[in-house]
Formats: sequence, C-alpha cells, structure tokens
Amino acid sequence: LPNHTAVVSHIAVDIGGSLAKLVYFSREAHSTEPGGRLNFAIFETDRIDECLEFMSGLKDKHLELNGARNGSDSSRRLASDLCVMATGGGAYKFYDNIRDVLGVDVLREDEMECLIIGLDFFITEIPREVFTYSETDPMHFVDASENVYPYLLVNIGSGVSFLKVSGPREYERVGGTSLGGGTLWGLLSLLTGARTFDEMLELASQGDNSKVDMLVGDIYGTDYGKIGLKSTTIASSFGKVFRKKRQAEQEAEDSGGQRHKDHQHPDHALPSPSEQQKQQHHEDGPASPETSHDESRPFTAADVSVSLLYAISNNIGQIAFLQSQIHGLSHIYFGGSFIRGHPQTMNTLSYAIKFWSRGAKQAYFLRHEGYLGAVGAFLKRQP
Ligand code: ADP
Repeated sequence: LPNHTAVVSHIAVDIGGSLAKLVYFSREAHSTEPGGRLNFAIFETDRIDECLEFMSGLKDKHLELNGARNGSDSSRRLASDLCVMATGGGAYKFYDNIRDVLGVDVLREDEMECLIIGLDFFITEIPREVFTYSETDPMHFVDASENVYPYLLVNIGSGVSFLKVSGPREYERVGGTSLGGGTLWGLLSLLTGARTFDEMLELASQGDNSKVDMLVGDIYGTDYGKIGLKSTTIASSFGKVFRKKRQAEQEAEDSGGQRHKDHQHPDHALPSPSEQQKQQHHEDGPASPETSHDESRPFTAADVSVSLLYAISNNIGQIAFLQSQIHGLSHIYFGGSFIRGHPQTMNTLSYAIKFWSRGAKQAYFLRHEGYLGAVGAFLKRQP
C-alpha cells in the first residue's frame, strides 16, 4: 500500500487470463504541489481475491484521508469520488465481485482500445520508455514520438494478439496465436520443477538449447551457407530429445542398469531448480554416485526451459514480421507481461525481426510492457 499520507483517487485494473494488472494514482494528502505518482501492482488472476483486497485497502485509505467516517453520508459521497476502471476479460467475469467488494461503480473499458491508448501514451508522453534491444546495447532508448502511425502492436499475454494501429483509437486486430505466454508458463510447469514464471526465466537463462534442439549443424555437420543458415540455427525445436532420451535409456540398460533404474525420476519430471542446484554443487565437488547418476541425464530442466522460450519467441517474431509485411508496417512494438524485460526473450524477438526483414525493421520494447491495458483504462478517465 502507498505510504500512509498518500491519497488514492483513481484505480484501473486490467484483468487478463493469467494476471491482473493494477495501476493507481496517489498524491500526498496535504501537498500543495500539483501532480502525484502512478503506482503499479500485479496479481495472479487465479487469486483475484488478493487483488480485490488490495483495491479495497486503497479505497479505505481514500475515505480515511478524506476524513470520512464509515457509513456517514460524506463517506458515501467520497466513495463515489473514487474512480475505478476495469478492462480485460476479468472486467466482465468479475464485475459483480469488484462492485460488491469496493461498493463503488466500476467503469468497464474495451481491452484492445485500452492497449492502444496505453501504448500511444507511453510512446508520445514518456521519455525513456521505448527501447530497442541488442546484446551489446540491451536498453537503447529511442524517441518514437514523431510519425507514430501506422504501427503493429504484438501483445504477448496468455495468448498473442496482433493489432494494426493506423491512428489514435484507430485499430484492427489482424491476427493472433494461442502459442503465447500461457503456453510457456503451462508447459514449463509440467516439464520442470519451477514454481513461478520468474523461476522459469531464471532456469532458461542457465540452459543450453543445443542439448534439446536439433540444430542445422546437427544435420549438416556444418552451416548451410547457401540458404543463409548458421550451424547454430535451430532446425527443429526439441528435435533432439527423442534420440537423446533413447540413447540414455540404452546406455543405462547396457551398464547393467537395475540400480540406475531405481534412481530414475519419473519420465516426465526433470530435476527441479533446487535439485539442479544440488547437482551443480556436486559437479563442482568430488564425484559421488549421485553425480554420476545425474550426468547420465541427457538434458536438464534449464535446457528445456530455454528451448521452449526460444520456440515460442521465434514463432511470435516470425508471425510479427509477416503481419508487418502484409500490412506495410515498419514499426513493431512488443507488449504484454510475457516479455518481462527478459534478455533472451527480447533478443529472440529482436533477432527474428532483424533477420527476416534483412535489417530493415526493428523490434521496439517498453519498460512498462505489461501495463499497457491498465494504463489505457486509467487514462480514459484521467484524474
Ligand atoms: P493476460 O492479460 O492474458 O493475463 P499478460 O500480459 O498479463 O496476459 O501476460 C501473462 C503472461 O505473462 C503469462 O502467461 C506468463 O507467460 C507471463 N508472466 C509474467 N509474469 C508472470 C507471473 N508473475 N506469473 C505468471 N505469469 C507471468
């Protein structure tokens, strides 16, 4: 919650399939200065009650600092001063809950429109918000406030939407794919022991995708220069898994593996991050029976994580490029909580756009990538 003397007058929430994003405006109660600050918070949609509780806390603060006592007329009037806006699917699904818990009217706003309003605001009003990514210059801020339109917005949330934006509030959803952030989150929760999205990203940052992916080099033994493929280009995501897994099983059997088998994890479960840490720890120290067991594992949860992260991001990057070609758009913005400022994700998306456009187009990212919709809803009723 904001510090005890801050007044909150505006709350906007964007409730998506995976996450509820909250933006609220606060200013010092007795300050004579104009302005205030925008605050950001995030909750899992599955735990919407926590989000509502938080909002309810903001409302109480609003009443308290306006000097109202519960139940009085002025408290009711002040409650109605509090402006609550909601967007995203959850604005419909949880409409009654929000109203009941807060006891105020909730203004619903269209999700896509909010995304665009939010993005336009970030592009045109906020310095040091839009940036390009490269390995040597991971956050290169650009001023994109002139010649804003037309552009492509690729919003990577649970699923992915491609929006062609031709002018202020002028947009069309031109495509989508269900292979998005929810896919990575879901599959990695099945395939690894990671318990949160950030743990998955952390795992991915430690992985080696060549343990899992079939690379051009695996097929050709070298690069395939004639059609511009490097030996490290991924030919088939997860394409090496079957062969490696069978090999490992064969070797285990050959080395008289009953003892080995007893130790084996169930087929579907790769070592969890903590097990993996143990493993890494062991690898630093003297060999133990456990270490040799772990070494027989052809790939780790980290390898699988980075491979899937690449697969999803490459796919989105490729579709984004094609959409930008079809609609003649040279600016491509990537938003949505999937990105989360993660270098491997931004590098993959950036590389895909540069590669396919032969350097003619660039991917743009945003520091507040996850909050476009929430900020858009917020701005529709500016304080
Ligand atoms: P939606 O509006 O569909 O909920 P978001 O833009 O909020 O979409 O993005 C949701 C995606 O962001 C998740 O599917 C996951 O890939 C990623 N993500 C980022 N942070 C988290 C988190 N803390 N918990 C779960 N998923 C997260």
